[in-house]
Amino acid sequence: MSDALRNADNYCYRHPDRQSFVLCQRCGRTICPECQTQAAVGVHCPECVREARQSAPRTKPRIVSAMSSSSDKPVATYALMGASVLGFLISLISGTAIYAIAYLQGSVAVYPWTIFTANFANTSFISVLFNLLALFFIGRTLESMLGRGRFLALFFLSGLGAVVATELLGGAVVGASSAIFGLLIAMFVIQRNMGSNNYGLLILVGLYLVYSVVVDNGAWVGYVGAIVAAALASLIFVRTRRISQVQQQRLLLGGLGAVLIVIAVAHALV
Ligand SMILES: [Zn+2]
Ligand SMILES: [Zn+2]
Repeated sequence: MSDALRNADNYCYRHPDRQSFVLCQRCGRTICPECQTQAAVGVHCPECVREARQSAPRTKPRIVSAMSSSSDKPVATYALMGASVLGFLISLISGTAIYAIAYLQGSVAVYPWTIFTANFANTSFISVLFNLLALFFIGRTLESMLGRGRFLALFFLSGLGAVVATELLGGAVVGASSAIFGLLIAMFVIQRNMGSNNYGLLILVGLYLVYSVVVDNGAWVGYVGAIVAAALASLIFVRTRRISQVQQQRLLLGGLGAVLIVIAVAHALV
């Protein structure tokens, strides 16, 4: 990694070797998962927590503060993994049950929830295994770098991208793998912004895309949609990093989600 590209703002101020996107809500400095303590709004760094404790007496029992400070656990990733397993179990119940959660062209008109549940539709053991491994290795890292809310927004925006592409261009069913492609691309964009060029991720995505064009005929449409949506979401993350831009970031992410949902609904209804 070149030092010229390396921006100290992207690293924990207490652990300069750890990349992170999460800022202390009080002082605005970057903090890694280990240094985050959940506050009423956002997270606080250890120094701000100490200062706040000195000015206000401890009101909660020690056990409560010990539990609430566990913001370093990637609970969103584990929840998505659990939902993926649930999606796979549904496909085992019957071959058709999966269509209640997967997304087909026009699904939004009949089963509107599928624009979100498609992210958990696994139709084979290989598919659920691939998704669980990808979430375990990439999801946990992204969640700790982005924070829980941004990570979940990225995951569901990727899924919406896949839905919109399938809606507009046809193609196969949207299932759980699409959002995973979004996570891979987000990882690349964010790491690149932090000064490291992880082209291995791009090669991995490229190879899998070629494979799905040749073998899967159709699933690649959703993958490409997820990649585009995730790239846009990642650009929003890296361009609105300052604490003063929190509101702007929420508006942009919400706007992107709203535009995707409107396109899907409008296309399915006409
Ligand atoms: Zn602070
Ligand atoms: Zn740290």
